[in-house]
Amino acid sequence: MPKTCSVCDEKTTSDGFCRRHEGAYRRIVEAYAGWREAKENSPEEYLREIVELAETGEWVVDVARYILGEGKALLREIEGAQGV
Ligand SMILES: [Zn+2]
Repeated sequence: MPKTCSVCDEKTTSDGFCRRHEGAYRRIVEAYAGWREAKENSPEEYLREIVELAETGEWVVDVARYILGEGKALLREIEGAQGV
């Protein structure tokens, strides 16, 4: 069974996201570290803010919506990415 992106139907070689959504996800993870220092909020609140921001790129919003819905397991990963 061919693997597809968690967000769109693009084929992907690995589990998770296609190339564009993977890039968007990395941007989310990287940006969260700086955002958290300023606001000390949970990744979930951070993602909600992304979805609400009109200027956020479409790919990032797709990924943020996915994580807030079916992709909740990734919240831990985002939180853990900067907690070292
Ligand atoms: Zn995708």
